[in-house]
Amino acid sequence: MIDRMRTDIRPRCDRHHWQMIKIPAMRAMYRCRESSCARHFGYPNGYFDLLEGGEVSNSVKFSRPSDGSAMYLAESNEQT
Ligand SMILES: [Zn+2]
Repeated sequence: MIDRMRTDIRPRCDRHHWQMIKIPAMRAMYRCRESSCARHFGYPNGYFDLLEGGEVSNSVKFSRPSDGSAMYLAESNEQT
């Protein structure tokens, strides 16, 4: 199975470390649940601040060396 666009991801805000809220209108876009936090996560681009007027700043792409796909903060208690 080819998993081009995962929609079951549960990213966490890289500042607050809590689970982000999926934006229903977007296919794979999440935002921080803190209203004052501009942090967003979009797959496969990673984290970024979405400012008023649609300006994007402080983007952080988490790249996995093995396949280059974006990484995100997942469950912090998962064991590897
Ligand atoms: Zn946040």
